[in-house]
Amino acid sequence: MERKSKIGGLRWTFLKMSVLPIFLLTLIVTVFAASSFAGTMHREVENGLESLNSALAVAFDMMYPGDYSVVEDESGLYFYKGDHLLNGDFSIVDAVKERTGVEITVSCRNVRVITTLMDAQQNRLTDTRVSSTIAREVMEGQVGRFYPKVPIGGDNYYAYYAPLINSDGTSVGMLFVAKPSRDVELLVRRSILPIVGVSLLFAGLMILIITLFSNRFLLVFMKIDTLLKKTANGELSADLEPEVMKRRDELGEMGRYVVRMQHSLRELVETDQLTGLYNRRYAQRRLQQIQEKRVGDGNSFCVAIGDIDFFKKVNDTYGHECGDVVLADVAARLKELMKGRGFAARWGGEEFLLVFEYYSLEQTADALEGLLNELRGREIAYRDQRVKVTMTVGAAEGSGEMIDHIIREADQKLYYGKNNGRNQVVK
Ligand code: GH3
Ligand code: MG
Ligand code: MG
Repeated sequence: MERKSKIGGLRWTFLKMSVLPIFLLTLIVTVFAASSFAGTMHREVENGLESLNSALAVAFDMMYPGDYSVVEDESGLYFYKGDHLLNGDFSIVDAVKERTGVEITVSCRNVRVITTLMDAQQNRLTDTRVSSTIAREVMEGQVGRFYPKVPIGGDNYYAYYAPLINSDGTSVGMLFVAKPSRDVELLVRRSILPIVGVSLLFAGLMILIITLFSNRFLLVFMKIDTLLKKTANGELSADLEPEVMKRRDELGEMGRYVVRMQHSLRELVETDQLTGLYNRRYAQRRLQQIQEKRVGDGNSFCVAIGDIDFFKKVNDTYGHECGDVVLADVAARLKELMKGRGFAARWGGEEFLLVFEYYSLEQTADALEGLLNELRGREIAYRDQRVKVTMTVGAAEGSGEMIDHIIREADQKLYYGKNNGRNQVVK
């Protein structure tokens, strides 16, 4: 439970570290790209309307040469281009609207004379008035102007107004071309949509990649975490998967350190410091395992207990330090002897336990005789002294009995050997 919440916490930290910046970056890039793209689109529409406005003015000039003039009497307002009366002549504006979808109005001062604009009942908005502000700005300024939001008949328009200028420089009317704002906005939105889509796709892909990588990292981390937990609980033989051990990064290093820590702990817990042999605790555990295995497969094994003869004398004669040297030397002989045969352990002060796996009692006794012979001929060097020791060993064969029984039997044989001349193997 504790581990879960820790890994969960790490996962959350990863997400915060990666997803949040990506999300923010994507948001900023998208907003920036979309708004600059929208700006470009608006300018495009604006330029389009301006060009169309100029082209229309040229078309009127070519169709009806001469200046614009106005005649106003009680029956109404009459707007001329050269000799041609413009009132009621919708041919040009309707044709252009049909091809481009753009609304067109020719106004005399601020009164609409010909227009494609209609009201809800499909009546043309002729004789209605253009906003006086716009009329003033365009006609007095004598320049074309763009208006992004012109309300006409309940709709908003994206409009370009240009003054109709006569040869003497005066202006009597305006030409208006416009697109409904909702059409322009729809166009802009449609063109932004791919940007938003690609950004979201990119962010999603990034988040997916990061999640995959962080999951792989967390998986390795969890394995090391589990090993640490087992080690902390005293399980010192838990393994770490080879692919984690082989990693060349900090995680691999961490894993290798945990395994090394385990080894060090195991050495501390299982070995005897003076002799480097296994200690009694380890020997008992191993013996138990061996006995269970041998009972299962029916093979025999032997246990021997060896005790150095008159060791107290060594201490008394040469000192305790020399005793230690002798113990280490004998232990090294035992370790050597047991290679490929089983294992040796320090059972007590100057007592050793030897376990022969897959050995009969005869084979065990032979090996032990060899050991005693070696000891008999050996002189252990301590400073300028040469110390000789012998050993008495009791050996017993293990079968179905309990470990305690086998050890007791070996011990009794050792005791017998001690009481019957020492320096011998009793089997
Ligand atoms: P026996 O042949 O009957 O075994 O005689 P012994 O003198 O070897 O046996 P005893 O039990 O009388 O003495 C064992 C001595 O071993 C006593 C103890 O001080 C010594 N000893 C035990 N552990 C160590 C050790 O780690 N270092 C040293 N230097 N001496 C030790
Ligand atoms: Mg002794
Ligand atoms: Mg003893």
